[in-house]
Amino acid sequence: MQFLVQTKPYPDEALESYLLRLARDNSFDGYSELADVLWQWLAEQDHELEGALPLELSKVDVYHARQASSFRIRAVKLITQLADVNAVDILGLAWRRSNFKFGNLAAVSRNELTIPFGLLRTDNIPVCIKCLAESSYIPFYWHLKPYKACHKHKTQLTTRCEECHHLIDYRASEALLECSCSCKLTCSEQLNDADFKIASALVSNNSQKIVGLISWFAKVKQLDISDADFNRAFVDYFSTWPESLTAELDLLTNNARLKQLNPFNKTKFNSVFGDLLRDCQIAATSNRKNKVLDAIINYFVGLVDSNPKAKHPNIADLLLCTFDAAVLLNTTTQQVYRLHQEGFLNCAYLQKKHEHLRADSHVFYLRQIIELQQAFAAEKSQIKKQFIAPW
Ligand SMILES: [Zn+2]
Ligand SMILES: [Zn+2]
Repeated sequence: MQFLVQTKPYPDEALESYLLRLARDNSFDGYSELADVLWQWLAEQDHELEGALPLELSKVDVYHARQASSFRIRAVKLITQLADVNAVDILGLAWRRSNFKFGNLAAVSRNELTIPFGLLRTDNIPVCIKCLAESSYIPFYWHLKPYKACHKHKTQLTTRCEECHHLIDYRASEALLECSCSCKLTCSEQLNDADFKIASALVSNNSQKIVGLISWFAKVKQLDISDADFNRAFVDYFSTWPESLTAELDLLTNNARLKQLNPFNKTKFNSVFGDLLRDCQIAATSNRKNKVLDAIINYFVGLVDSNPKAKHPNIADLLLCTFDAAVLLNTTTQQVYRLHQEGFLNCAYLQKKHEHLRADSHVFYLRQIIELQQAFAAEKSQIKKQFIAPW
């Protein structure tokens, strides 16, 4: 079997878009019909590949395949042979699961870009009518939830069909300029300049810096990225960075002072600042820079400086768990244990012999962690710090 027409991929094309075009170019009704034919053919070539290619276009990308992703890759490679195109070029269109994590959020990668998995649209893909009029394919960034306006044409993407008001998804309709109800798509929405700013950032060289920040902001503000005003809220918040964050932390600090029940050296950090440190890891970039963590550390350096150690415990004497201590020191929990064993860090209570510290027990003083952070700040690097004792 061989395809008659060799459809070439666009470098920024989505895999689903390519497969749909490949099917159309070769006179199939759409992807589903092509997949139906391929299903049988793949199974004949290699019995492991039976079912490796789904019949629905929305399920075809590699990250959907989970454990079977190697079969999916093999199936896609076989298709590239039939289409007589370079396998590397086609596999480069796919989103794959990444080993990197944004805090506790799973990630997917496409070429150089790694994003939190949750940034991929699931049930709709809006389109730019003008882009489609110029070249008939879907770029991968239309699949990203925060990409809502076209950075080339300065217009909002079309999200809903004017006729039936359903969300648009070319993977369901298997048509680029038509809704599932077979109505022609039109564009009418007014440009939102925050959407335009975010869209331009997402396709720039800085895209890696912004994807974690977007997911972090959505998590801590409990916002849905798909909401129409999400990008506006995000742009406004970061236009006064880091004062926007500092003001929030000041409020928490003052509330803690007003509502204090126990001495601060017996109070858990989390009871004042919640999941601040755990959440901030979402904002990391895949080369381990973290703008939010940097601002948080600056804040606590200031807090410790303005609340020196005194007879009466103060807010800088709060207790951190090992996990949060590791976040502030930009290291692993094992390294924090080691710092404790080697006498760099005191434990807030007397340990029993052979007792192991648990990652969630609050035993380290915020003050000491911040002082240690500063002591090692000189060797700031992009990789996780290794605290190695001088002997
Ligand atoms: Zn456009
Ligand atoms: Zn419709």
